[in-house]
Amino acid sequence: MNTGAPVWKLALLGRCPRCGQGALFRGVLDIRETCDACGLDLRAHDAGDGPAVAGIFVIGALTVGLAIWVDVRFTPPLWVHALLWPAVVLPLSVITMRIAKAALAALQWRHRRESR
Ligand SMILES: [Zn+2]
Repeated sequence: MNTGAPVWKLALLGRCPRCGQGALFRGVLDIRETCDACGLDLRAHDAGDGPAVAGIFVIGALTVGLAIWVDVRFTPPLWVHALLWPAVVLPLSVITMRIAKAALAALQWRHRRESR
C-alpha cells in the first residue's frame, strides 16, 4: 500500500487516498463507492460543498480579473465576453472541483481515524 503518497499527487491523479493506485472517481466528479485496488470504502469521504467553494473563489476571482483586463486592454464587443468566459470557466471549474474533491478526500482519510 502506498500510504505515503503526497496529497497533491493523489489530488492531481484522482487516486485512492489509502493505496494511491485505484481510481477515486467514477466518471468526471462522482467518487466511487469502494477502491478497486484496496477495497477502501470511499463513501465516507464526501467532501460536501468544499470543492465548489474552492472553485467559486479561485476560478471566479481569476475570471473576473481576466475579464476586466481583457475589456480594458482589447475592448472587445460584448458578444466576445459572452462566448469567451463560459468557455474558460466551465472546464476550469470542473478541473478545479475534481482536484479539490480528491485533495479533500485524501486529507479526510489522513486525518479521520474512524475512516481508515
Ligand atoms: Zn485504494
